[in-house]
Amino acid sequence: MILRALIAAAAVALAVPAAAQEPPRWSFAIHGGAGVIERASLSPEQDLAYRASLTRALEAGKAVLERGGSALDAVQAAIQLMEDDPLFNAGRGAVFTAAGRNELDAAVMNGRDRTAGAVAGLTTTRHPIAAARAVMEQSPHVMLIGEGGDTFAASVGLEQVDPSYFFSERRWQGLERALEAQGLPLPARPAGAPAPGMASALPAPPLNERKFGTVGAVALDQSGTLVAGTSTGGMTAKRWGRVGDVPVIGAGTYASNAEGCAVSATGDGEFYIRASVARDICARMATGADAQTAAQAEVDDALALGGTGGVIVMDTQGRPAFAMTTSGMYRGSVASDAPATVAIYADEARP
Ligand code: ASP
Repeated sequence: MILRALIAAAAVALAVPAAAQEPPRWSFAIHGGAGVIERASLSPEQDLAYRASLTRALEAGKAVLERGGSALDAVQAAIQLMEDDPLFNAGRGAVFTAAGRNELDAAVMNGRDRTAGAVAGLTTTRHPIAAARAVMEQSPHVMLIGEGGDTFAASVGLEQVDPSYFFSERRWQGLERALEAQGLPLPARPAGAPAPGMASALPAPPLNERKFGTVGAVALDQSGTLVAGTSTGGMTAKRWGRVGDVPVIGAGTYASNAEGCAVSATGDGEFYIRASVARDICARMATGADAQTAAQAEVDDALALGGTGGVIVMDTQGRPAFAMTTSGMYRGSVASDAPATVAIYADEARP
């Protein structure tokens, strides 16, 4: 009798929270690139620096969403912070092309009306994600490239910088290694770059980390709108005007309220384009898959083609999902009912 009463009480205790659990009013998730990131490859200081930086970006998104701001503003605020942070391969700290330039790609998509904006190969716009948003909101186009993209960004008042603003010693060393491995000549150091040994204000390169440092964010705001945004310098030593998956809507970036998803990807762009990763995740979710299952199936599909990487996904209930085929992905999430949590290695339980 007592046992039966105890079992009944336990059942009620277990059932009540589940039945009463409300979805969060808003929810936000970010990534800072996936890749070969193992505990042995980051020093304790570097590990901490990444976690602090991810937390700052989460807090920036949270500040917008908490006060009822738009998912678009939250995504832009967090990505701009990461674009300014040389730890990530986006904006300042972007990787170099084989010709020794920083060429920046970004995209944003608004799930409410499936409007989208993208830029590729920018060299003077400080915040490529802001340029992508301006393309979406202030031009009749979806994608602008190169000089035209920078000219447009300047014309709508976005901050322009000298290309040397994006220079970091760490990425230059990465270019030297990549060109040497490919037997290609090293271009001259960019005009305006600090002399070798003068760039010590930027963090030292992680020793063994081989990763894609693209940044991205997905958000659900209090009005129920889903937005995804992504920003990158692309791949080290890229050539011939190469553009990856990030600014290709449906490959690295996609959002649709109707299908109930927002997706931002990071990985081997060529394969993510061929697998239509972001759009396919949404299609899987529209036909009933949960975000985690859809995300994992799609990164596995890209892997089957030969491309590694990871994705972050947000659904209409504010549930974030993270999936990767790499040993790590810089990532984090925060929601109206959950504190900011960040993770780096694939085996970390949360987020
Ligand atoms: N997906 C990016 C690209 O191919 C690279 C990255 O994720 O870092 O341009």
